[in-house]
Amino acid sequence: MKVLVIGQGGREHALVWKLTQSDSVSQVFCAPGNAGTQSEATNVAIRVSDIPKMVAFAKEESIRLAVIGPEVPLVAGMADAMREAGIAVFGPSKAAAELEGSKSFAKQMMWKANVPTAKSETFSNFEAAEAYLEEREEQPLVIKADGLAAGKGVLICDTKQEALDGIKSLMKIKEFGDAGKTVIIEEKLIGQEVSILAIVSGSTIIPLETSQDHKAAYDGDKGPNTGGMGAYSPAPLVTDALMDEIIEKILVPMVNVMKIEDRPFNGVLYAGLMITNQGPKVLEFNVRFGDPEAQPVLMRLKTDLAQLLLAAAEERLDEMESLEWDERPAVCVVMASEGYPGDYEKGRVIRGLGEAAELADTKVFHAGTTSKDGEVVTDGGRVLGVTAIGDSISDAKLKAYQAVKCIRWDGAWCRKDISDKAR
Ligand code: AMP
Repeated sequence: MKVLVIGQGGREHALVWKLTQSDSVSQVFCAPGNAGTQSEATNVAIRVSDIPKMVAFAKEESIRLAVIGPEVPLVAGMADAMREAGIAVFGPSKAAAELEGSKSFAKQMMWKANVPTAKSETFSNFEAAEAYLEEREEQPLVIKADGLAAGKGVLICDTKQEALDGIKSLMKIKEFGDAGKTVIIEEKLIGQEVSILAIVSGSTIIPLETSQDHKAAYDGDKGPNTGGMGAYSPAPLVTDALMDEIIEKILVPMVNVMKIEDRPFNGVLYAGLMITNQGPKVLEFNVRFGDPEAQPVLMRLKTDLAQLLLAAAEERLDEMESLEWDERPAVCVVMASEGYPGDYEKGRVIRGLGEAAELADTKVFHAGTTSKDGEVVTDGGRVLGVTAIGDSISDAKLKAYQAVKCIRWDGAWCRKDISDKAR
């Protein structure tokens, strides 16, 4: 079968890489893709926002399965348009993707389903939000833009003044445009964070192996939030008992409530959790594979990904046997452009990719890269996801950083402590 992967990040490169390993896949297209997907699949120059063109291409090429990577086209309804055109698609409808597209909607669903999450209030009026903050005692709070903000619309505020400044920047200065018209003000939770991803279709839920992201820019979780500077899998914090609790108290009630609300979920349900001393609580839901978490998780997956995603797309996930995993841990280190997560330049020539490709148990996933005059150049803030599998988490880390050492461009940098929390 022919498969179309939509998106252009490290997550999409990992999906393409895994899908090409499937015996049932004859050709993989990636739209628009990056320099990494170009070397393994056929890149198609269609933007992820261009739904009519994407659907027309899928029909023209008789695509059997479309896999939508990022949240923006999902929230915009690309999966619905593909389904209407008769194409099997892995990814939730626009109505179900609202779980990520609107944090206040996600909160409503969590209340309805009785799913544990931080106490919160939602405001669409600046004066009301300001008055609410003024009346509160001094206490750390988290301010969130309701809509999509590329993972950056969350402000952790340790003082009342920071919270007041936060609502001003979201609601008045409109730092994230319309995404911040409505804000959620919630209690700050304390604990360790984990991501639980599950493949969902109908009432069937198949959890993937656990992983942990590193959101902060610098070592020791310092600095501004980013799209993610690295990840490892599994997260030893999640014991079997904790996983059972997460499935029972979070995943099952969420999937049920979405069905009751006539927004059945099909795709990856990603629960970002804080493991507090009162148990797991939801920080947010995403409706797609995490990036970079997809990279170490997919590196460990032994099951045929194309068959798994097709079964979910065709609502026969209950026919799938349990997933097979490589027991060994994997670590992904993101290499970024100078200046990221602020402004950065593009077009810097990347060297050493050939050398890194020769290393065993290692795969360099491309994120913000493109080809220019026969060379691979930087084209984004997060440029590469250097991923390795090893006998232990420290072995995987060592291998990933050995590959990082081979790769050079002007201003390249990465965190040095990815996976240290796992030990
Ligand atoms: P979100 O996009 O909602 O997951 O938020 C991004 C990041 O902000 C999370 O990964 C956490 O590190 C942090 N965060 C979000 N909500 C809270 C909260 N209620 N308490 C503490 N940290 C939070």
